[in-house]
Amino acid sequence: MRRAGAGGRGSCPSGVPRRLGPVSAVQVAAVETLEEYATATAGCTRCRLAQGRTQVVFGAGNPGADLMFVGEAPGFHEDKQGVPFVGQAGKLLEKLLAAIGLARGDVYIANVLKCRPPGNRDPQPDEIEACESHLWRQIDLIRPRVVATLGNFATKLLSGRPTGITRVHGQEQEVELGGNRVLLYPLYHPAAALYTPKMLEVLEGDFRRLPELLGRVVEPVPKPEPVLVAPQAAVQLGLF
Ligand code: URA
Repeated sequence: MRRAGAGGRGSCPSGVPRRLGPVSAVQVAAVETLEEYATATAGCTRCRLAQGRTQVVFGAGNPGADLMFVGEAPGFHEDKQGVPFVGQAGKLLEKLLAAIGLARGDVYIANVLKCRPPGNRDPQPDEIEACESHLWRQIDLIRPRVVATLGNFATKLLSGRPTGITRVHGQEQEVELGGNRVLLYPLYHPAAALYTPKMLEVLEGDFRRLPELLGRVVEPVPKPEPVLVAPQAAVQLGLF
Protein backbone atom coordinates (compact mmCIF):
# COMPACT_ATOMS: atom_id res chain seq x y z
CA MET A 1 0.00 0.00 0.00
CA ARG A 2 1.10 3.53 -0.75
CA ARG A 3 2.40 6.50 1.15
CA ALA A 4 3.76 5.00 4.36
CA GLY A 5 4.31 7.88 6.73
CA ALA A 6 2.34 10.40 4.65
CA GLY A 7 0.88 13.45 6.32
CA GLY A 8 -1.58 15.94 4.88
CA ARG A 9 -3.59 19.04 5.36
CA GLY A 10 -6.58 19.25 7.65
CA SER A 11 -10.17 20.36 7.44
CA CYS A 12 -13.62 19.18 8.49
CA PRO A 13 -15.68 17.29 5.88
CA SER A 14 -17.73 20.36 5.23
CA GLY A 15 -14.64 22.53 5.30
CA VAL A 16 -16.25 24.45 8.17
CA PRO A 17 -14.42 24.04 11.46
CA ARG A 18 -16.78 23.25 14.32
CA ARG A 19 -16.66 25.00 17.63
CA LEU A 20 -15.87 22.36 20.20
CA GLY A 21 -14.36 22.25 23.63
CA PRO A 22 -10.67 21.97 24.43
CA VAL A 23 -8.77 18.93 23.22
CA SER A 24 -5.33 19.57 24.63
CA ALA A 25 -2.74 22.29 24.92
CA VAL A 26 -1.66 21.53 21.33
CA GLN A 27 -3.28 23.77 18.72
CA VAL A 28 -5.29 21.23 16.71
CA ALA A 29 -5.73 23.63 13.80
CA ALA A 30 -1.95 23.80 13.37
CA VAL A 31 -1.53 20.03 13.21
CA GLU A 32 -0.14 18.71 9.92
CA THR A 33 0.45 14.98 10.45
CA LEU A 34 -1.51 12.09 11.88
CA GLU A 35 1.10 11.60 14.57
CA GLU A 36 0.79 15.21 15.68
CA TYR A 37 -2.96 14.88 15.68
CA ALA A 38 -2.75 11.74 17.86
CA THR A 39 -0.65 13.70 20.33
CA ALA A 40 -3.13 16.57 20.25
CA THR A 41 -6.08 14.31 21.03
CA ALA A 42 -4.40 12.27 23.79
CA GLY A 43 -5.78 14.59 26.46
CA CYS A 44 -9.22 15.11 24.90
CA THR A 45 -11.95 16.01 27.39
CA ARG A 46 -14.78 16.79 24.98
CA CYS A 47 -17.15 14.24 26.48
CA ARG A 48 -17.87 12.27 29.66
CA LEU A 49 -15.96 9.22 28.38
CA ALA A 50 -12.71 10.99 29.27
CA GLN A 51 -13.46 10.30 32.95
CA GLY A 52 -13.60 6.49 32.71
CA ARG A 53 -11.04 5.72 30.04
CA THR A 54 -7.52 4.40 30.57
CA GLN A 55 -6.38 6.22 27.44
CA VAL A 56 -7.57 7.63 24.13
CA VAL A 57 -7.52 4.92 21.45
CA PHE A 58 -6.72 7.13 18.51
CA GLY A 59 -6.17 4.56 15.75
CA ALA A 60 -3.39 2.39 14.36
CA GLY A 61 -1.83 1.28 11.11
CA ASN A 62 -0.36 2.83 7.99
CA PRO A 63 -0.96 6.60 8.04
CA GLY A 64 -0.85 6.61 4.24
CA ALA A 65 -3.14 3.60 3.77
CA ASP A 66 -5.45 3.27 0.78
CA LEU A 67 -7.85 1.26 2.92
CA MET A 68 -9.21 2.50 6.24
CA PHE A 69 -11.57 0.67 8.60
CA VAL A 70 -13.84 2.49 11.01
CA GLY A 71 -15.38 0.54 13.89
CA GLU A 72 -17.57 1.61 16.78
CA ALA A 73 -15.59 2.25 19.96
CA PRO A 74 -12.77 0.74 21.99
CA GLY A 75 -13.65 -2.17 24.27
CA PHE A 76 -11.92 -3.42 27.41
CA HIS A 77 -8.72 -4.65 25.75
CA GLU A 78 -8.45 -1.69 23.38
CA ASP A 79 -8.78 0.71 26.31
CA LYS A 80 -5.99 -1.08 28.19
CA GLN A 81 -3.62 -1.41 25.21
CA GLY A 82 -4.44 1.83 23.40
CA VAL A 83 -4.87 0.02 20.09
CA PRO A 84 -8.16 -0.59 18.23
CA PHE A 85 -9.43 -4.09 17.48
CA VAL A 86 -7.08 -6.16 19.62
CA GLY A 87 -9.77 -8.44 21.10
CA GLN A 88 -11.68 -11.31 19.46
CA ALA A 89 -13.26 -9.04 16.84
CA GLY A 90 -9.76 -7.80 15.99
CA LYS A 91 -8.51 -11.36 15.52
CA LEU A 92 -11.32 -11.98 13.07
CA LEU A 93 -10.55 -8.71 11.27
CA GLU A 94 -6.92 -9.83 10.90
CA LYS A 95 -8.06 -13.19 9.51
CA LEU A 96 -10.34 -11.49 6.99
CA LEU A 97 -7.49 -9.19 5.96
CA ALA A 98 -5.09 -12.10 5.56
CA ALA A 99 -7.57 -13.79 3.22
CA ILE A 100 -7.18 -10.87 0.81
CA GLY A 101 -3.40 -10.70 1.24
CA LEU A 102 -3.28 -7.79 3.68
CA ALA A 103 -2.05 -7.32 7.24
CA ARG A 104 -2.91 -4.73 9.89
CA GLY A 105 0.15 -2.70 8.95
CA ASP A 106 -1.16 -2.25 5.39
CA VAL A 107 -4.39 -0.54 6.46
CA TYR A 108 -5.48 2.04 9.00
CA ILE A 109 -7.96 1.13 11.74
CA ALA A 110 -9.92 3.64 13.82
CA ASN A 111 -13.26 3.95 15.59
CA VAL A 112 -16.14 6.42 15.71
CA LEU A 113 -15.44 6.95 19.41
CA LYS A 114 -11.88 7.18 20.62
CA CYS A 115 -12.68 6.34 24.26
CA ARG A 116 -14.31 3.27 25.76
CA PRO A 117 -17.96 3.59 26.77
CA PRO A 118 -18.51 2.09 30.23
CA GLY A 119 -19.43 -1.59 30.08
CA ASN A 120 -19.10 -1.42 26.27
CA ARG A 121 -22.53 0.19 25.95
CA ASP A 122 -23.58 1.80 22.66
CA PRO A 123 -22.14 5.22 21.83
CA GLN A 124 -24.52 8.05 22.80
CA PRO A 125 -25.45 10.71 20.20
CA ASP A 126 -23.72 13.51 22.14
CA GLU A 127 -20.54 11.42 22.44
CA ILE A 128 -20.52 10.82 18.69
CA GLU A 129 -21.06 14.50 18.07
CA ALA A 130 -18.22 15.44 20.40
CA CYS A 131 -15.82 12.91 18.87
CA GLU A 132 -16.66 12.93 15.17
CA SER A 133 -14.37 15.77 14.18
CA HIS A 134 -11.41 13.60 15.26
CA LEU A 135 -12.50 11.00 12.72
CA TRP A 136 -13.02 13.56 9.95
CA ARG A 137 -9.57 14.92 10.59
CA GLN A 138 -8.06 11.44 10.55
CA ILE A 139 -9.67 10.72 7.20
CA ASP A 140 -8.49 14.06 5.88
CA LEU A 141 -4.90 13.35 6.95
CA ILE A 142 -4.83 9.72 5.77
CA ARG A 143 -6.70 10.33 2.51
CA PRO A 144 -7.70 6.66 1.98
CA ARG A 145 -9.29 5.52 -1.28
CA VAL A 146 -11.71 3.14 0.42
CA VAL A 147 -13.27 3.59 3.85
CA ALA A 148 -14.86 0.38 5.13
CA THR A 149 -17.33 1.03 7.92
CA LEU A 150 -17.77 -1.81 10.40
CA GLY A 151 -21.33 -1.97 11.73
CA ASN A 152 -24.17 0.46 12.18
CA PHE A 153 -22.59 3.36 14.04
CA ALA A 154 -19.74 3.98 11.61
CA THR A 155 -21.96 3.36 8.59
CA LYS A 156 -24.66 5.79 9.68
CA LEU A 157 -22.19 8.49 10.66
CA LEU A 158 -20.06 8.34 7.51
CA SER A 159 -22.93 7.85 5.06
CA GLY A 160 -24.98 10.57 6.76
CA ARG A 161 -27.99 8.27 6.39
CA PRO A 162 -30.04 6.35 8.94
CA THR A 163 -30.22 3.15 6.84
CA GLY A 164 -28.98 0.16 8.85
CA ILE A 165 -26.09 -2.12 7.98
CA THR A 166 -28.33 -5.11 7.10
CA ARG A 167 -29.66 -3.17 4.11
CA VAL A 168 -26.48 -1.48 2.93
CA HIS A 169 -23.62 -3.91 3.64
CA GLY A 170 -21.55 -4.72 0.58
CA GLN A 171 -22.87 -1.72 -1.37
CA GLU A 172 -20.10 0.75 -2.11
CA GLN A 173 -20.88 4.39 -2.75
CA GLU A 174 -18.74 7.31 -3.75
CA VAL A 175 -18.86 10.05 -1.11
CA GLU A 176 -16.85 13.06 -0.10
CA LEU A 177 -15.17 12.61 3.28
CA GLY A 178 -12.63 14.87 4.87
CA GLY A 179 -12.44 16.92 1.68
CA ASN A 180 -11.67 13.88 -0.50
CA ARG A 181 -13.73 11.62 -2.69
CA VAL A 182 -13.64 8.04 -1.34
CA LEU A 183 -15.49 4.79 -1.79
CA LEU A 184 -17.52 4.14 1.34
CA TYR A 185 -18.00 0.41 1.84
CA PRO A 186 -20.27 -0.72 4.69
CA LEU A 187 -19.53 -4.10 6.26
CA TYR A 188 -20.99 -6.09 9.11
CA HIS A 189 -19.12 -5.56 12.35
CA PRO A 190 -16.72 -8.49 13.00
CA ALA A 191 -17.98 -8.71 16.61
CA ALA A 192 -21.49 -9.42 15.30
CA ALA A 193 -20.16 -11.99 12.83
CA LEU A 194 -18.18 -13.85 15.51
CA TYR A 195 -21.16 -15.80 16.75
CA THR A 196 -23.44 -15.76 13.69
CA PRO A 197 -22.13 -18.08 10.96
CA LYS A 198 -24.51 -16.69 8.32
CA MET A 199 -23.30 -13.16 8.99
CA LEU A 200 -19.68 -14.30 8.87
CA GLU A 201 -20.28 -15.83 5.45
CA VAL A 202 -21.70 -12.53 4.20
CA LEU A 203 -18.83 -10.57 5.75
CA GLU A 204 -16.27 -12.86 4.09
CA GLY A 205 -18.00 -12.41 0.75
CA ASP A 206 -18.10 -8.61 1.12
CA PHE A 207 -14.43 -8.59 2.16
CA ARG A 208 -13.44 -10.46 -1.00
CA ARG A 209 -14.55 -7.45 -3.06
CA LEU A 210 -12.11 -5.09 -1.34
CA PRO A 211 -9.17 -5.65 -3.77
CA GLU A 212 -11.43 -4.77 -6.70
CA LEU A 213 -12.69 -1.63 -4.94
CA LEU A 214 -9.13 -0.57 -4.12
CA GLY A 215 -8.31 -0.79 -7.82
CA ARG A 216 -11.13 1.54 -8.81
CA VAL A 217 -10.36 5.06 -9.83
CA VAL A 218 -12.32 7.57 -7.82
CA GLU A 219 -12.25 10.99 -9.40
CA PRO A 220 -10.70 13.58 -7.07
CA VAL A 221 -12.84 16.45 -5.88
CA PRO A 222 -12.35 19.29 -8.37
CA LYS A 223 -10.70 22.32 -6.83
CA PRO A 224 -13.09 25.29 -6.74
CA GLU A 225 -12.29 27.94 -9.33
CA PRO A 226 -10.79 31.01 -7.65
CA VAL A 227 -13.30 33.84 -7.64
CA LEU A 228 -11.69 36.98 -8.98
CA VAL A 229 -13.25 40.13 -7.62
CA ALA A 230 -12.35 43.48 -9.18
CA PRO A 231 -11.00 45.92 -6.53
CA GLN A 232 -13.95 48.34 -6.96
CA ALA A 233 -16.48 45.50 -6.61
CA ALA A 234 -14.59 44.18 -3.59
CA VAL A 235 -14.92 47.56 -1.89
CA GLN A 236 -18.64 47.62 -2.69
CA LEU A 237 -19.02 44.09 -1.28
CA GLY A 238 -17.34 45.27 1.91
CA LEU A 239 -14.35 42.98 1.44
CA PHE A 240 -11.85 45.77 2.16
N1 URA B 1 -12.80 -3.00 19.10
C1 URA B 1 -12.68 -1.77 18.54
O1 URA B 1 -11.62 -1.14 18.57
N2 URA B 1 -13.76 -1.27 17.96
C2 URA B 1 -14.92 -1.91 17.87
O2 URA B 1 -15.84 -1.37 17.27
C3 URA B 1 -15.00 -3.17 18.48
C4 URA B 1 -13.92 -3.70 19.07
